[in-house]
Amino acid sequence: MKVAIIGVGSVGAAVATAIKNTGLVHEMVLFDRDGVRARAAAADLGHAAAFSFDVKITAANSYREIRGAEIVVIAAGANQKPGQTRTDLLAANANVIRDIIPRVMANVDAKKVKIIVVTNPLDVMVMLARDLSGLPAGRVIGTGTMLDSARLRTILARHLDVSPMSINAYVLGEHGDSSVVNWESATVGAIALNDFCRAMKLSLPQTTRKTIEHRVHNAAYEIIQGRGATWDGIAAAVNDLMRCIINDEKRILTVSSCSSKKNLAMSLPTIVGGDGVIKVLMPKLSADESGALRQSGRTIFRNYKNI
Ligand code: NAD
Repeated sequence: MKVAIIGVGSVGAAVATAIKNTGLVHEMVLFDRDGVRARAAAADLGHAAAFSFDVKITAANSYREIRGAEIVVIAAGANQKPGQTRTDLLAANANVIRDIIPRVMANVDAKKVKIIVVTNPLDVMVMLARDLSGLPAGRVIGTGTMLDSARLRTILARHLDVSPMSINAYVLGEHGDSSVVNWESATVGAIALNDFCRAMKLSLPQTTRKTIEHRVHNAAYEIIQGRGATWDGIAAAVNDLMRCIINDEKRILTVSSCSSKKNLAMSLPTIVGGDGVIKVLMPKLSADESGALRQSGRTIFRNYKNI
């Protein structure tokens, strides 16, 4: 399997590192408009690969070198600076996607390729990449709220003192400030969250839920404040998504893809397999969650109209 990563900054390099360590791909091509950066990353990662799996890692001087890639990850574009929201990146990153997608499509097999979008604001970039690529909606996949859901599961797990692996809880809607925590469908193992709390004599009052939501919504801002950018969490999310596609795992992930009815991309629980999106599911929502999800969709659509 050959994959290409477009944009080899903090995120692209971390994604390449994560993928290299899985042994699932035999060739990885890195492209960045800053060729020096891409070549340096390819060299460094190529040397590191000698300690793990035999992956051929090269820097592309032109898009021609991505030919044969079955998965293309788009991690290029401006990132948030402290105090900026993802929406602040809208105009600049729309131009980045407009630059990249036609060049990608001129060099890949449109019948096979899957595009994974990471660039923010994520959902609008998925919609734009889908428009420009002409690919079926299910093959232009944003990492969506995979990372937000992982943050929720981790924070909740510490509160409940169980492994995050045993928590099924989703963040839905926009990968952004309007995202919605879906408490109504959350389970621990197969047990409804409220029943689990009752059995364990734990309380999870509304105030605690609000605090958890706040921590999930603000996680990226806090990491950016302390570290300048976020890369490890999103790299793990891309790697997980890629593994799900390459192995045709048919797992449920909260990715963002365009719905076939309305051209709106947002995150919902989605079965993902070898050809991308298989089925988007609508979980049970409370009345408040349902209203917030509709509002989140409106926010994404308004931003899309603004580009
Ligand atoms: P960065 O500044 O470290 O790297 C961006 C890279 O993109 C740079 O190397 C730059 O040269 C390259 N680039 C810019 N325009 C390009 C173009 N037209 N063609 C090719 N390369 C181009 O930024 P980063 O921290 O790596 O973040 C990258 C993107 O990922 C941002 O939009 C950021 O907001 C997003 N991000 C998304 C998530 C998520 O959960 N979806 C998480 C973290 C970051």
